[in-house]
Amino acid sequence: MSELLDLLVVGGGPAGLATAIRAAGAGLSVAVAEPRPLPVDKACGEGLMPGAVQALAGLGITPVGQPLRGIRYVDPRHEAEARFTGAPGLGVRRTELHRALADRASRLGIPVTPLKVTEVHQDARSVTAATTTGELLRARHLAAADGLHSPIRRQLGLAAEALGVPRYGLRRHYPVAPWTDCVEVHWSPHAEAYVTPVAPDRIGVALLTDRRAPYQDQLAAFPALRERLTAPASSAVRGAGPLRQRVRARVAGRVLLVGDAAGYVDALTGEGVSLALSGAEALVAAVRAGRPASYERAWRRVTRRHRLLTAALLGLRGHPLTAPHLVASAARLPGVFGGIVNHCLV
Ligand SMILES: Cc1cc2nc3c(=O)[nH]c(=O)nc-3n(C[C@H](O)[C@H](O)[C@H](O)COP(=O)(O)OP(=O)(O)OC[C@H]3O[C@@H](n4cnc5c(N)ncnc54)[C@H](O)[C@@H]3O)c2cc1C
Repeated sequence: MSELLDLLVVGGGPAGLATAIRAAGAGLSVAVAEPRPLPVDKACGEGLMPGAVQALAGLGITPVGQPLRGIRYVDPRHEAEARFTGAPGLGVRRTELHRALADRASRLGIPVTPLKVTEVHQDARSVTAATTTGELLRARHLAAADGLHSPIRRQLGLAAEALGVPRYGLRRHYPVAPWTDCVEVHWSPHAEAYVTPVAPDRIGVALLTDRRAPYQDQLAAFPALRERLTAPASSAVRGAGPLRQRVRARVAGRVLLVGDAAGYVDALTGEGVSLALSGAEALVAAVRAGRPASYERAWRRVTRRHRLLTAALLGLRGHPLTAPHLVASAARLPGVFGGIVNHCLV
């Protein structure tokens, strides 16, 4: 890559590819550095909220999956369901989502370079990324979309100290016909299990937990759910965490953080991909305007609702007085539950 690109995207996950696709659509020259062959599988609940489905469609991306009509909360004594009042969400295998993004990037002629970035350096005009092969990649701006544990965020000193009890995510799939058209969330004292239909004959079961223990041991906290998993798992366990990643700032000169790299609260509202998509849009607008510093404020604005809701729910979930009553409260106040799902999540 000898000529100076407008934007180099480091990391070809959903955030990186969405950023590159947005950038190409805005007329910027862009390339992606991603060492892993696409599509990449990873720990994810695989539930796209309706807003994410619409945002993807706006980028020309229509992954194949199972329509999701709402969110259902379940504990041993209560059930509460909130249906989406507008368009449905989508349960979609992570590999299918990634394939659809990668296909769109490829159709737009966006080069994906199979290189791992080791360090970034910048001067007044450009950013240079060093790679494991010794090749140097240069661009006017760099989008760090290198995930939850973003090495670039760490190198630039943008990571802040984590707060609270760390939580972890684990997921696997079962060849079981979905019994629900919702994301079904089962609650137990230390973990939630998220059941997401991803195909007519397959569900994903993601666990979010504050305990480090094998998947099967964690699943034992959900005996009613375990009984419904009538066939052996069809995928290996994948994990991620600690989920909470605090970030001091999203911009350092010509380097801008996007997706999980920009900071993460928790997966319990299932909005990571939505946030990646809205962050990508804000990042490209700032780069295109030649005002990278304006991205910080734009990112805070487009992610505020999600950050507040997720932090509030996490607080209720973590408090011994409120945690046991979450599902009962949602069942007792269906209007409030429906309002939160349709006005805050969607
Ligand atoms: C258990 C769990 C359940 C979840 N459930 C949902 C859900 O139901 N719905 C939802 O919307 N979101 C969910 N999320 C969140 C969602 O998965 C993430 O927000 C999303 O994957 C973020 O995408 P990303 O591109 O920022 O990061 P990633 O997908 O992690 O991509 C980062 C990429 O950067 C690359 N990379 C890393 N280092 C380098 C380097 N040095 N050089 C070049 N490339 C590099 C990696 O190879 C990787 O491909 C869940 C997350 C977890 C953990």
